[in-house]
Amino acid sequence: MQFFLYPAKVNKSLNYNDSLVIFWTYQFGSSIPPKYLHDLRDLIKDYLNNHLPFDNIFLVTHNKNWNHFKDITGFFEEYNLAYSLKISDTNIYKVLFNDLGLGTVNDDETKFKQYQDIIIFSGLSFLFNNRGAMVGPTDHIHYILPSRNHSNVFIRIANILKRGVEINFVGFVLLKYLTNNIKNIYCDTSSITSAAQAAVNLKLILDPIFVAPNIDSFGSYYGIDNYNFIDPSNSIFLISVSSDGRLSSKLFNKIGLQTSDDNIIIMYKYPSNISGSISPIQSKGRALCYLNEIIAADVIDSIITFESDCKLCSSNSTPVEIIGDEFMTEKEETISILLKEEYLPIWFSNVASILIGKKYIVCHRLKRKTQDSIREIYLDIDALFRQLNLKKNKYFNKLFQKYLIQRVSASLKIIIYLDDTASKTIAECNTPHFLDQKVYLLS
Ligand SMILES: [Zn+2]
Repeated sequence: MQFFLYPAKVNKSLNYNDSLVIFWTYQFGSSIPPKYLHDLRDLIKDYLNNHLPFDNIFLVTHNKNWNHFKDITGFFEEYNLAYSLKISDTNIYKVLFNDLGLGTVNDDETKFKQYQDIIIFSGLSFLFNNRGAMVGPTDHIHYILPSRNHSNVFIRIANILKRGVEINFVGFVLLKYLTNNIKNIYCDTSSITSAAQAAVNLKLILDPIFVAPNIDSFGSYYGIDNYNFIDPSNSIFLISVSSDGRLSSKLFNKIGLQTSDDNIIIMYKYPSNISGSISPIQSKGRALCYLNEIIAADVIDSIITFESDCKLCSSNSTPVEIIGDEFMTEKEETISILLKEEYLPIWFSNVASILIGKKYIVCHRLKRKTQDSIREIYLDIDALFRQLNLKKNKYFNKLFQKYLIQRVSASLKIIIYLDDTASKTIAECNTPHFLDQKVYLLS
């Protein structure tokens, strides 16, 4: 999608209440082709399914796209959208920004300064709350933050940087920090370098003589000690999220003598009064967005972070360390259902005669040995295999080999099986498929 739509709630006393912001930077050539305008119409429809009707509309783009306004308003008129959406000259705000992140609203520079903060804040807030930036809290796991503190939530800014136009929006937010003297943009993690690159790309569109700076990632807490920052006074330092201010302080301690902490930009910052046990530290740098202003108060109150003696660990929650772009589990959800006949799989009647009354599947099986715990569902695979005589059962072996071809690497050399007869039987069934090479079985 070429357009980023989000709501902006604006001060009522200034008479611009619920607003829709439409942001784009794509240049489309000399005008916006009809197919993209139709896309925009569909996006507005989707928007209205999820948000309050808007009183005003902000069209936000860079000043090379000034001619797009007439395409959009003309489209609204042509398709009667202006009437149904109640858009008129009085409630449409045409916002153009320049290479410094400044600009005009309806050709008025003063109005830009008046609306700039709300346009930026609302967009960053929308991205954070609608793109899964905050993971947790859950009862079962908590997170080891890069600072080594433990917290029941983990904030992953990479999640908001997935769509091109939204990355460009963050690039627009960063434009005002990207002055002509900037030679380097140092990011705390590689996952936000796309935002820095977007800012540079916009700058290059808007200022043809701008020289693109070097963009690099210093690897957050893990990499900062050994990283060699070149020319810090002519560099921007971009920190994705600050939970406790430690990274920005560490960074400032390293480069502080050579620059001002104004060059350290924190995209999202926790409030300083998070519950738990963290020793206070004076945070450095300036934040684009404070989480306590964009997350519901009860959610903020539920965030807890521990520097030591983690109460989450002691309450049987598992600490999970997140490094890089690893897969993370979704929040667990338990749904109770009553199994009815309609759920019966069609294959069940074929196997029922083999299984019923043989104790191959036992619910709440009692302990056999002292170290056994009671199993909710116990599958006696060993007994089942003996009954089926797997090695001679052609039907089973055919299906099993088919499954192996899909799942097991053809370079398999050794199979190590658990020390029970069922595992040994399965391991031996594995070998025929790999007859053209020697496969060793080890228990
Ligand atoms: Zn913990």
